Amino acid sequence: MNVKSVLKQLEFKKKKRLGQNFLHDEMVLDAILLHADIHPGDTVLEIGAGLGILTERLSEAAGSVISLEVDKALYAYLKNRFRNHKNVHILLQDILKFNTDDLPGQDVKVIANLPYYISTPILTHLMESIKKFSLILIMLQEELAERVTAEPGSKKYGSLSIMTQFYTQAEIVAHVPRTAFYPSPGVDSALVRLQVLKQPCVNISDPEGFFRVVQAAFSHRRKTLRNSLLGSGKISGERLDSAFRATGISPTLRAETLSIHEFAKLAQFLL
Ligand code: SAM
Repeated sequence: MNVKSVLKQLEFKKKKRLGQNFLHDEMVLDAILLHADIHPGDTVLEIGAGLGILTERLSEAAGSVISLEVDKALYAYLKNRFRNHKNVHILLQDILKFNTDDLPGQDVKVIANLPYYISTPILTHLMESIKKFSLILIMLQEELAERVTAEPGSKKYGSLSIMTQFYTQAEIVAHVPRTAFYPSPGVDSALVRLQVLKQPCVNISDPEGFFRVVQAAFSHRRKTLRNSLLGSGKISGERLDSAFRATGISPTLRAETLSIHEFAKLAQFLL
C-alpha cells in the first residue's frame, strides 16, 4: 500500500491533534503481527485504524477484528475498503468513550498504533478494563515506552510503570524509527508488549487506594518518601511513621527505589 498516494487520492487533510502518522514500513508490520501471535479464534481490538494497513493484516490472521477510528473521513474510507471483509467491524468511535463491556467474550487482544497525544489516558483506560484482555501490543513514543517498562532504581520508573506492571508483564519488543511513518513524527517509537497477568502481581484489596498512595509517593520526586506522602495532605505524620516502622521500609528512601511489592506493603498499612 502506498500511503502517500492513498492520502493524496483522498485529498486527506491531516488533523494534527489526532496524531495521524501512518505506518508504511512492511518490516514493522511484520514485527507487529509476529509479537501479537494471533490465531484464527482470536478477537482483536484495533485502536486508531487509520488507512487500514494493519487492519488488513489482522483480518487475515484473526477470527474477528473490531477497529476503532475517530476521524470521519478515515472511517468512511475504511468502511468502503473493508466492505467485503466479513470479520472486520469498523466503528466510528473514540477509544476513550468506548465501553469495553461491549466487546464479545474475554481474552481480547488489543493492537494499537496509538495517537501519541493520548497514549497515557488510553493506557489507563485499558488497565481499567484489563479483565477483558489477554494481550496489549502498543506502539508508543520511545520515551513513554521506557517509562512503562522501567524498573525500580531507574529515573524513568514512576506511577505509570507501576500501574502497567501491576496488571501486565511489560516488555519493549522492537525499536521503531520515525521514518517508518508518513508523515514522519518528530520522535522515534517502540513497540511494547503487555502480557496480561492472570492475577495482579501483588494481592491488594483496594487497587484504587493503592494507586493513590503510589501517585502521592511520586508527586515530589526529589523529596523523600515520607515528605512526598506527607505533602499529599491526606496522611498524618503519625500514621506514616507507624507504617514505616511496621513494614521496615525506610522513610528517607525515594519513591523511585521502591518495588511494587514494597508499595503494596506500605499501602496496606496506610489504607
Ligand atoms: N493504525 C494506523 C497505522 O498504523 O497507519 C494509523 C495510526 S495513527 C498513529 C493513529 C490513528 O488513530 C489515526 O488514524 C487517528 O485518526 C486515530 N485516532 C486518534 N485519536 C483517536 C481516538 N481517540 N480514538 C480512536 N482513534 C483515534
